[in-house]
Amino acid sequence: MLNMTIMILKIITDPNPILHKVGAQIAPADLKSEKIKELIADMAETMYSSDGVGIAAPQVNESIQLCVIAKQYNPLNANEDLVLVNPVWVKQSILKKTDEEGCLSVPNIYGQVKRYTKIKVKALDQSGRPIEFIAKDFSARVIQHEVDHLNGILFVEKAKNLHKIERV
Ligand code: ZN
Repeated sequence: MLNMTIMILKIITDPNPILHKVGAQIAPADLKSEKIKELIADMAETMYSSDGVGIAAPQVNESIQLCVIAKQYNPLNANEDLVLVNPVWVKQSILKKTDEEGCLSVPNIYGQVKRYTKIKVKALDQSGRPIEFIAKDFSARVIQHEVDHLNGILFVEKAKNLHKIERV
């Protein structure tokens, strides 16, 4: 067992240059480090505590290719969070759908973003094993949003009808 203290991390908000940088690739050997394991656990905790459905490492000030997707949008196993290391995706259909998005790093701003509805994702899992799977609909949307973060892109750069909603 790891002796971890899970912490809620500070979420970096726009404008902060780290959100506009491409994250560094992670070497599989680095996934064995306590630091990365703690980071993954902390990112998941931070995401759930903020009612997020996904979180990318640059949002907690780590410019690396790592994101966590909430379990309810994990196409592989709905009982576990989906951890993606060095993820890439390709479209599986030309179909796109527009839907409302928000982002923990752009508080209270929402907008309509067009995304592919079916994608094939390739990544490493948290143990460094290669994984490949199809994601559809909202899972596909969340993964595209998080992979954008790893490439330094925020949804507000793609969104239409941006508007402010104060959450109570
Ligand atoms: Zn986001």
